[in-house]
Amino acid sequence: KYFDQSQGILDTLLGRTPETVKAVDDVTFTLHENESKGVIGESGCGKTTLLMVLLGLIDGTGGSVTFKGRDISTFDKRDWKQFRREVQVIFQNPFDSLDPKMSVRNTLEIPLDVHGIENKEERIKETLEQVELRPPERYIDRFPDQLSGGEKQRVAIARALVLRPDVILADEPVSMLDVSTQAVILKLLARLKEEMDLSIIYISHDLSTVSYICDDINVMYLGRIVETAPTMDILENPKHPYSKALINAIPIPDPNHDRERTTLEGSTPDPIGLGEGCRFRERCPERMDICDRTPAFIQEEGHHVACHLYYDHEEHEAAAKGVEA
Ligand code: SF4
Repeated sequence: KYFDQSQGILDTLLGRTPETVKAVDDVTFTLHENESKGVIGESGCGKTTLLMVLLGLIDGTGGSVTFKGRDISTFDKRDWKQFRREVQVIFQNPFDSLDPKMSVRNTLEIPLDVHGIENKEERIKETLEQVELRPPERYIDRFPDQLSGGEKQRVAIARALVLRPDVILADEPVSMLDVSTQAVILKLLARLKEEMDLSIIYISHDLSTVSYICDDINVMYLGRIVETAPTMDILENPKHPYSKALINAIPIPDPNHDRERTTLEGSTPDPIGLGEGCRFRERCPERMDICDRTPAFIQEEGHHVACHLYYDHEEHEAAAKGVEA
């Protein structure tokens, strides 16, 4: 079991003076060995903040993040060094994440030097092979401006893999690439995941890319996870109205398919001063009076979903009265 967050962990307050925004609120999230989890949501929903908290780059205001059973807030310098070796990140923009003054060799050498790993040349070439930059001798002395967008992202992936990590956190790793390169990089990530027994947290606004890589999907809206389920279940039978809207927005390439593509009306509300109630209610086509109360996270046909549509209020009220009696 790698990451485990207890209730309320990512109760992260991001400064936005004079008011404050809860960028990620009351999120519970666990990643096991060889598992791949996706976090999907629109821009500004808190995905990147979640990633920063998992990496220990932002402190949450409540709860905790544990890695391999240990609370990361108790880590000393040595623990952090080990953590940085075992948990690697692939960033969104390969055009920014590589230093233009550093060759591929230098880029991959730095983490090996930091962690005192020997046989660097051999390890670098082996990793370039793994990310299909072949033959490695052709690429090892190139600089970023001598590489295509897809080759740059392969180098960024190689940098993440060169230390042989257990966990990869991928932050929209294909969103800056053209569509055909996206497909190639996704296929590469899926292959590496199997071959290297990687656990992956993949965050994106694009449900189709997340569903290609991930076993499970967490749907996030305005700082909260609103639905969690295995990927195929989410795609075929979404429960939460927001998940349904995301799936309806995916284009279908088959002209004979009769599903009408719909887009979600309105924009994400201002996250300042969010009070009680479902955060999706201003845009929800199925809104009810009770939605002014915050929905509990419940299990519904294998999904975990936070929506009043699936909560049996009469049953719970009757049970509560029974307890009082
Ligand atoms: Fe819509 Fe209400 Fe469910 Fe929120 S709780 S998603 S407003 S039906």
